[in-house]
Amino acid sequence: MDIIFVGAGLANCLLAARIFERRPQARLLLLEAGESVGGNHSWSLHSTDLSHRHHAFLSPFRAHGWNSHEVHFPAFSRTLGGHYHTISSDRLAQVMNERLCASIRTGTRVVEMAEDHVVLEDGARIAAKAVVDGRGPVASRHLDLGYQKFIGQEIRLTHRHGLARPVIMDARVEQMDGYRFVYVLPLDPETVLVEDTYYSDGPDLPADAVRRRIADYVAAQGWTADYVVREEEGVLPIALGGDIDAFLAEGPQGVAKVGLRAALFHPTTGYSLPDAARLADQISLQHDLSGPAIAATVREEAARRWKARGFFRLLNRMLFRAAEPHQRYAILQRFYGLPEDLIARFYADRLTFSDKARILTGRPPVSVLRALSCLSETKSAIGAS
Ligand SMILES: Cc1cc2nc3c(=O)[nH]c(=O)nc-3n(C[C@H](O)[C@H](O)[C@H](O)COP(=O)(O)OP(=O)(O)OC[C@H]3O[C@@H](n4cnc5c(N)ncnc54)[C@H](O)[C@@H]3O)c2cc1C
Repeated sequence: MDIIFVGAGLANCLLAARIFERRPQARLLLLEAGESVGGNHSWSLHSTDLSHRHHAFLSPFRAHGWNSHEVHFPAFSRTLGGHYHTISSDRLAQVMNERLCASIRTGTRVVEMAEDHVVLEDGARIAAKAVVDGRGPVASRHLDLGYQKFIGQEIRLTHRHGLARPVIMDARVEQMDGYRFVYVLPLDPETVLVEDTYYSDGPDLPADAVRRRIADYVAAQGWTADYVVREEEGVLPIALGGDIDAFLAEGPQGVAKVGLRAALFHPTTGYSLPDAARLADQISLQHDLSGPAIAATVREEAARRWKARGFFRLLNRMLFRAAEPHQRYAILQRFYGLPEDLIARFYADRLTFSDKARILTGRPPVSVLRALSCLSETKSAIGAS
């Protein structure tokens, strides 16, 4: 085998698909512990998050797309332009099965991995020139994290919902367990994905209470649920600080880590799709696809991105540590009053120096003293780009 991918989640699927596209002769094997490829998620991104080349690659994976989106806060509502796209697990699995069916084994848990082989739960050993670890998030003492956690229900309504576009934040809901908002994707005229979301200090998610709040939100919109089509759950890392080099050094040497395993996510949203698409492109273009060569590329890229993202971690610390939990919404409310192109650059991780100054200046909705105490990870975060 040339490359074994441990886990057929988002990052490994995009990487395997990209390598297959550019090196169809490569012998690839994806080993997935779960029953299906890609798990049970909806992955969204803004068109401005990636270049045309990356979007062209992602386009077969897209299940939904819209031309604008809106946000709602107690003080105002706003419609923002720009395309917003969603990849569903079903579509990811469909495309992967069409392209790489013979290379995918589901229901196959890897229990050991090294630079040149993996061992399966049943004791089988498979040799490879490269092993890529894409097993998803992992707890580490080297990362200081907050959490974005949510339950999302895809709900078939009895009537049309009437939404013209996604609502990516509705913060007019009761604030609890940190910053709370509801995220709504209109998947078709009578189906919505409703996610009740919390930016919280802890990862626990009281599922039954959250489901009740989703039902309350649906009722408050004047909608009637016919049935729940599916449910997804997420507890995403929000980066507050950490020692990236120590984090990346964890695990077996010579095994490349990708996706959340490599801390490749936007520090403030926990979203990893853009990073995964960029990394897949970068690795698939490199000449040497041996394990150590892929591992070196990922380590360098993950460390570079983490170090360049100090400003986001500073904002996160202000959100989590300077603002009282029930006042956290005010930081997001202020942010969404900023110019639209700045907001797009924020999500795309392309903030300029003056964007950063603009975000930090004005009257912050937190105590200045507590805000100053958040500078600790790096005092030069505003200069990091
Ligand atoms: C419900 C949900 C919604 C999200 N929405 C977005 C979004 O809109 N936009 C965005 O950019 N990000 C989003 N994220 C965040 C992030 O992009 C996802 O978590 C993403 O799936 C992470 O990709 P990954 O490849 O690192 O891990 P995963 O996609 O979680 O893949 C890991 C895979 O490894 C498998 N695995 C684990 N252990 C083993 C083993 N020992 N052997 C074999 N297989 C194993 C797992 O079963 C899983 O399939 C979302 C996350 C969740 C949970």
